[in-house]
Amino acid sequence: MERELIKNLLARQPVGEQVTVAGWVKTRRDASGFSFLEIGDGSSVRGLQVIAESTLANYQDEIKKMSTGCSVIVNGELRESPAKGQSVELLANRIELVGWADPAHYPLQKKRHSFEFLREITHLRPRTNALAAVARVRSHLSMAVHRFFQERQFTFIHTPIITTSDCEGAGELFQVITEQSAQTAPREQARDFFGRPAGLTVSGQLQAEVYASALGSVYTFGPTFRAENSNTSRHLAEFWMLEPEMAFCDLACAVELARELLVFLIESNLETCGEDLELFDRFVEKGLLAKLGKLASADFVRITYTEAIEELAKSGRSFEFPHEWGMDLQSEHERFLVEEVFQAPLIVTDYPATLKPFYMRLNDDGVTVAAMDVLIGGIGEIIGGSQREERYEVLLQRMEQGGIDIESLQWYLDLRRYGTVPHAGFGLGFERLMQCVTGMANIREVIGFPRAPGFAPC
Ligand code: ATP
Ligand code: MN
Repeated sequence: MERELIKNLLARQPVGEQVTVAGWVKTRRDASGFSFLEIGDGSSVRGLQVIAESTLANYQDEIKKMSTGCSVIVNGELRESPAKGQSVELLANRIELVGWADPAHYPLQKKRHSFEFLREITHLRPRTNALAAVARVRSHLSMAVHRFFQERQFTFIHTPIITTSDCEGAGELFQVITEQSAQTAPREQARDFFGRPAGLTVSGQLQAEVYASALGSVYTFGPTFRAENSNTSRHLAEFWMLEPEMAFCDLACAVELARELLVFLIESNLETCGEDLELFDRFVEKGLLAKLGKLASADFVRITYTEAIEELAKSGRSFEFPHEWGMDLQSEHERFLVEEVFQAPLIVTDYPATLKPFYMRLNDDGVTVAAMDVLIGGIGEIIGGSQREERYEVLLQRMEQGGIDIESLQWYLDLRRYGTVPHAGFGLGFERLMQCVTGMANIREVIGFPRAPGFAPC
């Protein structure tokens, strides 16, 4: 008999039909003459209640020994449930034990566990309601990303994971060398395989610009690596970044796309993952649904970096870090502006050139660049982007000033020599978005296998 997902059964409620489900036991409770088993299969927050009568052949030997975590296949008749809080239940004809989970050792109990504890059992945490919901939201959001861009006729491109251009500057790169060279050659000679130093990508942007310069509007969405030795709740060493890049597009056009994208993703998640979001609203961040609803219809406030500095100055507030023109906005500044001054998502543009990478387009004032950061409450920066410098001479000068290796980026300069166009793009940190949508305080909860300093369990 064909198996059916619990989610679909609960939606369809085919009372009187014979159905089969397969999953893991959440709880077992014995009554006289029968037992209740709650089965979950990961398709839904809710499990299915199964009634196992003592007349079943394996009742004494197996069913009465089943405990949280063991896997089963159940066949039976779906019927209306007399119990409160559920509409249907499954009266079992047959319960096949697939795999035991020794209760003396199985680390998940019926009670709620802390997220810190669950991180120590990365391989089992998706069995919990919260982490399973995270996985489902992640899947839906990923597909929503593709829907958004495909509807707008962007081309999905795959940028390389191993790169030979470090576009964000030194320090955050993981070098890639062969095992053999690691054992024999000093690290600085590790040009063994590619003939030049190579590393894991910190951004697919430069390569996305190559494709934008040929196909117009493109996006890349994949893993990104940063050796950030900061143990924060917002940084991972491996995270997913979504990077659209558009030819014939300026900063304003990138700002507009960023806003549309965020609204689309939040709305489509509210539509498809309501049950999961309700769980987060109850147990992770109170008021999450209201917050997301507000975010989806919010007016994004747009200010320049210079205006942001003025706001901070006139606030009279004392901050840990200074906030003078020319200094980077710290997250305390960003959060103050978003959460207290404007109380809305904030797009800060036109930062001092000295704070931003060489590829951002120099404004006419000669001191600021056409950069944008999108800041949201609780998270801070979720998107960073810019219009790119499309003028060969200006770009060359910026690279020279910044001490960038011109030779290894001649291909990048060439894009400005042959049919250059104004273009712009941005990077959205997918896990930061996941934090916003799920309310998870720590970024390690929104990715299946988090990597951070000293942490990469499986
Ligand atoms: P931050 O200042 O928060 O470290 P950044 O300025 O280094 O961010 P960008 O280089 O602009 O970030 O990257 C684009 C986006 O990628 C950021 O807006 C953020 O959402 C995300 N991001 C950057 N670094 C990380 C990281 N280590 N872990 C998770 N997401 C990240
Ligand atoms: Mn960073």
